[in-house]
Amino acid sequence: MKEYIFHMDAGNLILKPKLDMKKIYIELSSRCNLDCPMCFKNTFTDPEGFMTKKTFDKIIEDLRNFPEMEHVIFGVLENAQ
Ligand code: SF4
Repeated sequence: MKEYIFHMDAGNLILKPKLDMKKIYIELSSRCNLDCPMCFKNTFTDPEGFMTKKTFDKIIEDLRNFPEMEHVIFGVLENAQ
């Protein structure tokens, strides 16, 4: 059964589904030192790079909205340059 959180805002009843994410994968970089032909990255048009500290800090801050979070997994490719 889906749970909801509600609050009043300027006389309007705001009803939002309760956030219940339990696991998150965070990739700090879109770079990879391999070149697999079937890689989904072959369709990317943006340049490869690393997550900014500002974005990382925002993710960590937003995780506070998920009190039932159990696992935060960092995806880091070994030997990524
Ligand atoms: S991201 Fe994964 S699939 Fe893509 S090139 Fe790197 S190792 Fe291969």
